[in-house]
Amino acid sequence: MREALRHKLRKFQDSRTIAQQMTLLMGCVCLLGLGLVSLAAARLSGTEVAERIKHDMVITASGLADRLDMDMFERYREIKILSGMCPLEGAADGAPAQLRTVLDRIQSSMRYFAWIGFARPDGTVVSATQGMLEGASVAARPWFKQGLEGPMVGDVHEAVLLAKLLQTAPSDEPDRFVDIAFPMRAPDGRLLGVLGAHLALRWAEGLRQTALAARAGTDVYVVSADGKVLLGPNVGAAAFPAERIREMAHAKAGAFIEDRDGRKLLTGYAAADGEQDYPGLGWIVVAQQSTEIAFASAYNLAFTIIGLGGIMLLVCVGLSAWLAARIARPLDALTKAADEIGRDPHVTMLPRQRGSLEVMRLSGALRALIRRLGSSELRFELFSRQHDADIAALKELADTDPLTGLLNRRSFLQVADVALQSAHSLGRLGILMADIDHFKLVNDTHGHPAGDAVIKHVASTFSANLRAHDRIARFGGEEFVALLQDTDEASMMALAERIRSAIGATRVVFEGTAIDVTISIGAALAEDQDRDVDEVIERADLGLYEAKNSGRNRVALATREAAGAA
Ligand code: GH3
Ligand code: MG
Ligand code: MG
Repeated sequence: MREALRHKLRKFQDSRTIAQQMTLLMGCVCLLGLGLVSLAAARLSGTEVAERIKHDMVITASGLADRLDMDMFERYREIKILSGMCPLEGAADGAPAQLRTVLDRIQSSMRYFAWIGFARPDGTVVSATQGMLEGASVAARPWFKQGLEGPMVGDVHEAVLLAKLLQTAPSDEPDRFVDIAFPMRAPDGRLLGVLGAHLALRWAEGLRQTALAARAGTDVYVVSADGKVLLGPNVGAAAFPAERIREMAHAKAGAFIEDRDGRKLLTGYAAADGEQDYPGLGWIVVAQQSTEIAFASAYNLAFTIIGLGGIMLLVCVGLSAWLAARIARPLDALTKAADEIGRDPHVTMLPRQRGSLEVMRLSGALRALIRRLGSSELRFELFSRQHDADIAALKELADTDPLTGLLNRRSFLQVADVALQSAHSLGRLGILMADIDHFKLVNDTHGHPAGDAVIKHVASTFSANLRAHDRIARFGGEEFVALLQDTDEASMMALAERIRSAIGATRVVFEGTAIDVTISIGAALAEDQDRDVDEVIERADLGLYEAKNSGRNRVALATREAAGAA
């Protein structure tokens, strides 16, 4: 398995250029590295931005919650202060007009007070803003009953008694109120009655609208302690399951993502939990926005980071492709130049390449190699030339007679045999056999070197008289044999005679002494019956024998017929 994989990898590598391999490798490394880094960065920063966005949502909710608490606290305090004012004591007792004036003044300073009134312990309203409900009994109203016991803040309810009297709401919706009530006591602790106020919820709606305007695209609404929407769309509907409401009330503030009708909503909330001695009504302010909009900037950031990572990846791959091509270029050039050496006669050396230390070393080493190869080639050529010369010299030495430079017996016989074998030569091939007369005497009289000089003289005179295609050899001693091609008896005898007389006519001068030389020649023509050249030579030798016997310095022809007779 591993071996097969390695084989496959090797096969792949062998079929790809360095540039392709490096680009692929760098691409993979960059993809992995940059991919991981940008994904991690995108995730981390995206998460951080998302957390900040969540926090902003909570801030929006708690801003409104604080404003609601603050306002309620102030109204609570106003009623509380009013209930404890001693100068009102009398008014509460018997001067309703005086108290009404004070109440009216308070109402006009805070227009969301829909009604402020004072009821005696039996529930009869003594004094009220604009005289509303004066004389009526509020004994059954929860605010009155709880107000008798101590300070109370009542959660939202619709007007019961005031509904007909109050024409303030322009809409068809009935007015809703929050009640505040305090018992009023004389300095001696005697209960004088209950001071109560109804605060129109439109006040809180105003604050909600301000919050909405401050955060476009965000829903802000107020939920009561029992989970019903107080302010916002779908008033009265359950905003969250009871379990969730409990969690929210417990946590006071926080954020979560709510799945509503397939839409994901980022939800920030804050509980309005009162201010100082105002205990609060357990309202929860909720700010909601679809996650798509809320987290758009987080998503954008993440995508931007991933996009930048992608661009970096492309740049890295591009750079590595460029670098790899740069590295490989000198190698390509070396390959191309090496390919031309030996084909193109103008290219005898590799160009010096640069680009990296390895390329410099490789090109240097290859150049040195070529130089070494060149010099050994030159040496080989010189050697082989010398060798050829030596062989030629040896051959020459083997074929020639050292004293005269003529062919020796061995090489002569080769040449003569070849000549005899060619059919057309038959009957047209002659052999002359010559021997110096009384040569021994020359040696004895003038010395051996003089004898050599005579041999040389005879050889050169003999050669000079032959035709280009005739051959002559020294057969040893003072004996010469000539092969005449393309001849006949008459020409052969004429030539032999010419040679004999040429030698006889000249004298050899050796160290001041002139020496007379003559030769005897035996001649024979090749005939049909001759099996080899030796037979012809043998006949010529008989001719020579005859020439010697009949007085020397002459030419004698030997025929097969005559030889047979002999
Ligand atoms: P003939 O007329 O019967 O041929 O008499 P000749 O004296 O020439 O015959 P012979 O064969 O008796 O003598 C040949 C001599 O040649 C004997 C030998 O010492 C001599 N000789 C052979 N080779 C050489 C050589 O290379 N140089 C010299 N100087 N003498 C040689
Ligand atoms: Mg002899
Ligand atoms: Mg002789």
